[in-house]
Amino acid sequence: MPFDPERSLAEVRHEFGEHGGVNMSIEASTTFTVLDAELMPEIFQGHRGPEGGCYLYGRHFNPTVYVLGRYLAALEGTGAAYCTASGMSAISSTIMQMCSPGDHVIASDTIYGGTFALLGEFLPAKAGISVTFVDISDHEAVALAFRDRTRLVFCESIANPTLAVADIPALAGLAHGHGARLVVDNTFAPLVLSPAQLGADVVVHSLTKFIGGASDIIAGAVCASQEFIIELMDLHTGALMLLGPTMDPKVAHELALRLPHLGMRMREHSRRAQAFAERMAELGLAVTYPGLPSHPQYGVLKRIGNEGFGAGGLLTLDTGSKERAFELMEGLQNDHRFGYLAVSLGYFDTLMSCSASSTSSELSDEALRQAGIQPGLVRFSIGYTGTLEQRWAQFEDTLRRVGVL
Ligand SMILES: *Cc1c(COP(=O)(O)O)cnc(C)c1O
Repeated sequence: MPFDPERSLAEVRHEFGEHGGVNMSIEASTTFTVLDAELMPEIFQGHRGPEGGCYLYGRHFNPTVYVLGRYLAALEGTGAAYCTASGMSAISSTIMQMCSPGDHVIASDTIYGGTFALLGEFLPAKAGISVTFVDISDHEAVALAFRDRTRLVFCESIANPTLAVADIPALAGLAHGHGARLVVDNTFAPLVLSPAQLGADVVVHSLTKFIGGASDIIAGAVCASQEFIIELMDLHTGALMLLGPTMDPKVAHELALRLPHLGMRMREHSRRAQAFAERMAELGLAVTYPGLPSHPQYGVLKRIGNEGFGAGGLLTLDTGSKERAFELMEGLQNDHRFGYLAVSLGYFDTLMSCSASSTSSELSDEALRQAGIQPGLVRFSIGYTGTLEQRWAQFEDTLRRVGVL
């Protein structure tokens, strides 16, 4: 039977509250007692840990954060997972754990601006890690980019903001064939794609987006083998342990209560985005959505996507110019309350931003051109409030008024 992430999530052991509550309790302690003094050195030596109910200190492991990690491991079907204070800390800790000075990373040329800056500027300057950015849909170019010390290939399952879908099985094959690992950022496509089931070694998330779902929490996660998570938490050499981007247990508790309806939310985001994309295509607009047959990786997503979750909640529209993009977003927000002119994604209302001058502004003009991010490209994270027809009427009216139609 193929992996079903929703089923996997429902099968993970449910954590009840201290007094039998249906929800788990928040373990708001930074330090933990041991009844037997002999236990403490054993925990320090890593012989005992959260699996056996032994906790030491909140930056190491906290029971509430640990439970959320178990839920996310179930979601991605990995041996373990651990949560962090942000998506960026999940990404930076993973890369730093895998690389030493002199090592090399192959990364997709269309990734989140923060990750692009981390790989292109911060890590080369601070850690002597080099990077080659490539178009990961060009497998020949990826193959040519490997060097002796290439440790990992990094990409996004559905890329920001081009919405290119990574052929994860092919990329995993290439990475493994060269003794490297594949790290996939699955922020844009929780439930839609299950990268670890397709060969990725590590799946990272910004929980700030769809998983949080309300644009109120910054958080992240690393989903990987038990072995890699233990490595990240090592008291002497673990990037998560020593760089310290710890998740607060109160945040973990909040997020754990949102996972049960992630499936319903993702289905509705995808259903609305699919309807919008199809109607925009019918009107002859320059829309990009992986659920449209015109999308270059439509076939890839059909082949590797999970059944029933559609093609995700993001679509882009090239309005032709930055001025028109701004007018469209202002009209939609200020005249119709269609959504908000704001960065980020995965909110219950629609969010819209002009990628080239916001979330991808870390890229140079040349890099923007190379990645196909036009100045007038508007990225929509389609929400599910209001009715579809009401939202479409607002959208069509604004398109006409600003002259996109
Ligand atoms: C937002 C985002 C990140 C960074 O996550 P934070 O939680 O803001 O640190 C990384 N990757 C992608 C694809 C994102 O959208």
